[in-house]
Amino acid sequence: MATILIDLDGTLIPLDAWNPVFAEICTYIAKRAGTTPEEIWRRARRRNLELLRALDLRAFDWQRILAETAAELGVDEVPDVARVLERHLPAFRLNDGAVEALAELKAAGHRVEIATNGLAYYQLPVIRRLGLDELVDGVRTSDRYGCPKTCPQYFQGADVMIGDNAVFDVYFPQKFGLYTIFYGNWEEEAAAHSQRMQIDLSKAAPHAVVTNLREIPRVIQSLFSS
Ligand SMILES: [Mg+2]
Repeated sequence: MATILIDLDGTLIPLDAWNPVFAEICTYIAKRAGTTPEEIWRRARRRNLELLRALDLRAFDWQRILAETAAELGVDEVPDVARVLERHLPAFRLNDGAVEALAELKAAGHRVEIATNGLAYYQLPVIRRLGLDELVDGVRTSDRYGCPKTCPQYFQGADVMIGDNAVFDVYFPQKFGLYTIFYGNWEEEAAAHSQRMQIDLSKAAPHAVVTNLREIPRVIQSLFSS
């Protein structure tokens, strides 16, 4: 039986789930900085992208990114991200087919772990709130491994990576010998990520592409029977 890793943001839950959290914090900072929330978000994203391109773990430390963005504009107080998240958690939802896919993979005897670049401090409350902890055997976060989904130790002992990010869920895991299943539109996302991350993805290709999470158990079955 296989050890299967599945991504959280953009895969098990919609990519925009966090938007209200960031919107609230950006509004708070913008008011004090005398600018717009959009401008705060643009600056925070730029900082995040610089760190992402450097494959730096701090790309996922939103408290730090938002605090640095605020400080740049003379604002030295920023709401606690985890606390704002807690208030928005009741609105978080799973993507269609998530529960069914996880339950079926488990029933087939596989070990299933959530594998996210996010920090445990932010991701564990989301995982618990949605009951995902009851459906999987473990959770891998980047802070636990000391690197994002870019280093061999992160993928140790795993056979498959499933996710929506062309770089972190396909390019790197493939490099370390994992089967990869991409969730979404591969051509479109690979082109966008290749440009954003400045990584050549022209030779990368997932072993399978799905557009609904319910397709995953069947794809896994065919990967391991061939
Ligand atoms: Mg993702």
